[in-house]
Amino acid sequence: MKIDILTLFPEMFEGPFSHSILKRAREKKLLQINTINIRDFSRNKHHTVDDTPYGGGAGMVMGPEPLFECFDHLEKIYGGKPERVIMMCPQGEPFSQAYARELAREEHLVIVCGHYEGIDERVREALVTDEISIGDYVLTGGELPAMVVVDAVARMIPGVLGEAASAEEDSFYHGLLEYPHYTKPRSYRGYEVPEILLSGHHENIRKWRRRQSLLRTLERRPELLQEVELTKEDKKVLSELLNLLQSLDLT
Ligand code: SAM
Repeated sequence: MKIDILTLFPEMFEGPFSHSILKRAREKKLLQINTINIRDFSRNKHHTVDDTPYGGGAGMVMGPEPLFECFDHLEKIYGGKPERVIMMCPQGEPFSQAYARELAREEHLVIVCGHYEGIDERVREALVTDEISIGDYVLTGGELPAMVVVDAVARMIPGVLGEAASAEEDSFYHGLLEYPHYTKPRSYRGYEVPEILLSGHHENIRKWRRRQSLLRTLERRPELLQEVELTKEDKKVLSELLNLLQSLDLT
């Protein structure tokens, strides 16, 4: 996959994409990340990219010209309009694991990072296919949100994670929260690893993990259960858990 990131601050991306799994993915050529400085496409003398908003008000708005020029440049390189252009935007569609999986099927993504009050609306109208929000809060720029999206998408690309199975077991992949993990030592400061995980009985461990996964989802994010395909066994476990939780309710 190739990802072009349009930003006013390309240096911000150097750290996060140069370590650990993303670094290896880039070295293995599973992922190519290219940052493009929007300022390079500003034609005015001082290379400014923003201006005061029409209608008045506080803050500055990123103007359309450098971004349109930047897209002309991309069109020349790729011989056509990029198919998937994502604008990071607090008003966009909430980002999710399902969205990351869907984007990971693309061969090329362009991500536009806003700054200041945001970007001139005509950029969205003419150039953008997706607007993504990483949560209901406002950050100073689209760089951190873009890093979040790239990281989540990258780990969905086949071969990026060492074991293919590890992504599938993750929270949200199949709609549930993941079960808890333990490693050595077996006993630490009075905290013990659950006996079942030491038993070596794979089927019982699988059942325990599934039960924990259902319990966590029920306790922390019950609304997720409506979207999950539950097996007969899951439904039985959930009804046992619900009965148990109700019996503990002392109100
Ligand atoms: N004035 C805008 C509004 O109220 O919707 C907010 C602009 S914000 C200060 C500047 C830029 O940061 C945005 O253009 C966007 O690229 C990015 N940004 C901020 N919060 C974000 C979020 N939650 N998700 C995605 N991008 C965000």
